[in-house]
Amino acid sequence: MNKKTSRGRVSNASLPKKAHDKYCGFCKSGSDYVDYKNVSFLLTFVNKQGKILPARYTGNCPKHQRKVAKGVKRARELHLVSHESKF
Ligand SMILES: [Zn+2]
Repeated sequence: MNKKTSRGRVSNASLPKKAHDKYCGFCKSGSDYVDYKNVSFLLTFVNKQGKILPARYTGNCPKHQRKVAKGVKRARELHLVSHESKF
């Protein structure tokens, strides 16, 4: 039985869980440092157009998403990561 919340939406507490939940890789591994010189690592947080992927895709928590964004921007400043697409 689904209980209705105060907003009238159906609570999903009794629904089956998603196949895999997103998690922040930094929190899980315990590392807190984003190396702006590690280009191959930073490119995992950048799409083909050179844009920083939002946290809803990467699964990062807000704290680590800010660190990733700062790292990518530093790498762009040093021309390690391109500002735009390569096409
Ligand atoms: Zn985190």
